[in-house]
Amino acid sequence: MAYQISDACIACGSCVEGCPVEAISMGDGKYEINEELCVECGACESVCPVGAPAQK
Ligand code: SF4
Ligand code: SF4
Repeated sequence: MAYQISDACIACGSCVEGCPVEAISMGDGKYEINEELCVECGACESVCPVGAPAQK
């Protein structure tokens, strides 16, 4: 299952560069993951300061 970013996201942008497939982009007040691109590597979860990305 792809990762999703919860409302806990503080839009710091730290996860964007770490994503190997450029699946993360700025959305409406928080960052979002394109689930069709996500390869479930977990890099965004590791770098996020607030634990916003999680596997659904
Ligand atoms: S799990 Fe990996 S591929 Fe999916 S959005 Fe996070 S960094 Fe990108
Ligand atoms: S690292 Fe976490 S808080 Fe920062 S933009 Fe990504 S999901 Fe949001």
